[in-house]
Amino acid sequence: MLKIVNGQVYDPINGVIGEGQELLIDNGKIVDSLSDENCQIIDASGCVVMPGGIEIHSHIAGPKVNSARSMCPEDHYDHFMIKTQKTRSGTGYTIPSTYMTGYQYSRLGYTTAFEAAVPALEARHAHEELKETPLLDSGIYTLMGNNYMIMKILSEKDEVGRRERLHDVVRWLLTSSKGYAVKVVNPGGVENWKWNNGSVDLDTPVAPFRITPRNIMIGLAETVKELKLPHGLHLHANRLGETGNFVTTLETMKALEGYPVHFTHLQFYSYGLTNKGALRSAAREIAEYLNTHPEFTCDVGQIVFGPATTMTADSPMQFRLHQLTGNKWINADVEMETGAGIVPMMYKPSVLFNAIQWCIGLELLLLIKDPWQIVLTTDHPNAGPFTSYPQIIRLLMDSDYRNSIIDQLHPKTTQFTNLKELKREYTLEEIAIITRSAPAKALGLTKKGHLGVGAEADIAIYKMLKNKERMFDSPAYVLKNGKIVVRDGIVIDSFAGRRLIVEPDGSKCLPPDLVKDFASYYSVALSNFAVQDEYLLHPEVIPCI
Ligand SMILES: [Zn+2]
Repeated sequence: MLKIVNGQVYDPINGVIGEGQELLIDNGKIVDSLSDENCQIIDASGCVVMPGGIEIHSHIAGPKVNSARSMCPEDHYDHFMIKTQKTRSGTGYTIPSTYMTGYQYSRLGYTTAFEAAVPALEARHAHEELKETPLLDSGIYTLMGNNYMIMKILSEKDEVGRRERLHDVVRWLLTSSKGYAVKVVNPGGVENWKWNNGSVDLDTPVAPFRITPRNIMIGLAETVKELKLPHGLHLHANRLGETGNFVTTLETMKALEGYPVHFTHLQFYSYGLTNKGALRSAAREIAEYLNTHPEFTCDVGQIVFGPATTMTADSPMQFRLHQLTGNKWINADVEMETGAGIVPMMYKPSVLFNAIQWCIGLELLLLIKDPWQIVLTTDHPNAGPFTSYPQIIRLLMDSDYRNSIIDQLHPKTTQFTNLKELKREYTLEEIAIITRSAPAKALGLTKKGHLGVGAEADIAIYKMLKNKERMFDSPAYVLKNGKIVVRDGIVIDSFAGRRLIVEPDGSKCLPPDLVKDFASYYSVALSNFAVQDEYLLHPEVIPCI
């Protein structure tokens, strides 16, 4: 049992904003009374108390993350943690080792994180790594946007049969992979690239199925809605990173109106085009659309200057990035399901394109009026490491600091962006929303992201400091399941978190004709495909809506 007293509590879901409220904790949960008043007390005088942070989109486990670790020894030389009595050693900056990933999230006050892109075929590897990523409740999103079975069904003519078969296959993929949400990456684009075709737009035919990216997204969004999954379709749309792509982004949003959809790393999709064919910010156009469509959520994918490691199932995009930068790369085909690529990057304020990208992310955060619609992410480690969140929080809360960085960017940056004109400064309430309450809501996690009675006692306590980067960089306390795991920015306890999964009602078997296809085309037997229960230490089924 434990009591937190004298803190200023920020719990936006329950309408508590900076109030001096006591929090009582028993058995890992927030309770309304304690049987023993002589319990441990945390005096949070001069501190802000928030629910534990929730990472909605990050790449922290699985084959591509592990390949990146071995591909980039330079990421490990200077960044390491020494073993302590409670923690293991670890290395890595943009791609830290599993234990270090858990500790680093924890020491920022984050207590839950989702790995955003896992092919079902390789889910076992992702779960094994998450098992070794301590102090985080975690889950994986299962890739489906270029899956043979899905595309084959979508190409069938019988509308009713098609719908039911799509439900079956989505349930089968989710439960076989022990996934949490349906992830789509460049729908149809990866498949088309395997046939040596170029970039796809919404209505480009996808060989050889004679369907389009639009069919794939609508078909899967409809299925997510009908299966009542707790999180909407998690969408990495077409044309990521291409100048002028905001037109496709807006068309995609219009096509998906009425469906539950989360648009991920939207910064990479808000690129306009000047008359001379150069990049300009189109954050205003995207934000204006979202401001009138509160049903959609997004996360930002904010660029951080410095090293990054791009890794994504969007293999054609990674090939282009490799050609563009000349940087080393890996590209992989994942049999019937997807592709993947890795390219290390360096984002520089002196490079005009990078400087504009940096401004676009912040513009989205400042122009989207409702903080419940946008979640803070760096698409770790694609746009930068998650350890930069405190710096981004300062950029949002302190316009003088923001302007001082704008002044250091490539001198032409302000010609193509609007960031300098934006005066908005985030409040602590808004920071609590974009880092914990909004992601909890978007993910359908009713016991997380708030501090009401019955909520999980995942709590971050930050000393109130003027410099918000320092404030959020080193919490006074972090509690996981009601236990103190971080004290003054140092990890003092370590244990495994839970694995969050879904189990939608209905058949979880592959239809018989597709069992035949599986036997013909996969390199594994169907009986070896599903992730066995022992790969999950503490599974928790999150109910469908
Ligand atoms: Zn991502």
